[in-house]
Amino acid sequence: MADLPDIAANLAAIRARIAEACRRAGRDAAAVTLVAVSKTHPAEAVLAALAAGQTVFGENRVQEAAAKFPPLRAAHPALRLHIIGGLQTNKARDAVRIADVIETIDRPRLAAAVADAMAKEGRRPDCLVQVNTGDEAQKNGVPRAGADAFIRAAREEYGLPVTGLMCIPPVDQDPRPHFAYLRALAAAHGLGVLSMGMSGDFEAAIAEGATHVRIGTAIFGHRPAAA
Ligand SMILES: *Cc1c(COP(=O)(O)O)cnc(C)c1O
Repeated sequence: MADLPDIAANLAAIRARIAEACRRAGRDAAAVTLVAVSKTHPAEAVLAALAAGQTVFGENRVQEAAAKFPPLRAAHPALRLHIIGGLQTNKARDAVRIADVIETIDRPRLAAAVADAMAKEGRRPDCLVQVNTGDEAQKNGVPRAGADAFIRAAREEYGLPVTGLMCIPPVDQDPRPHFAYLRALAAAHGLGVLSMGMSGDFEAAIAEGATHVRIGTAIFGHRPAAA
């Protein structure tokens, strides 16, 4: 196995940057949750982060998360797992079984599948609606024009426990207007959770009100190119 980077040091550096971004924004650092994105990285990397006090993790593939996390969770009851990747309807039941938060609800068929899985599993992880703020053809998320109606339907029609919104802005644009848009949309629906900001733009996201930042590379190092 490849040597692990110094995950404890990377986490300390990220926490300091989050605290500084909060200070500049006049926000309480406790209002921002760091989601450590461990996709493609081995369980040993997650264990190193747990040892450094990190409890919230993000994975984008349900199968990978289902293989990696249940044994870790047994040993670390405080661990919380967010599913942050595009979700196929046939993975909804596994996602409901293993996740504490599903961040990527973005279409009626998926909302229906997740609601059905919740009924069958007797488990109700929090849900976020992913919004495709850049209306990019290749990206997951509900398009801007459909966002209001879909957020209402996810809550009222499908009965999902929607607590907030998530977005991934276009890579080639200033992310700030996208974060500001997401914040306004959440406020209009009375939703408190804003999952926005990654390794490259989390400080801007915090300035715009992020409550959850999803950070992978800056903690665990680069992912294999194929992943
Ligand atoms: C991989 C991933 C991240 C983390 O990205 P980094 O640039 O490595 O910090 C955040 N959010 C989502 C949805 C991801 O898939």
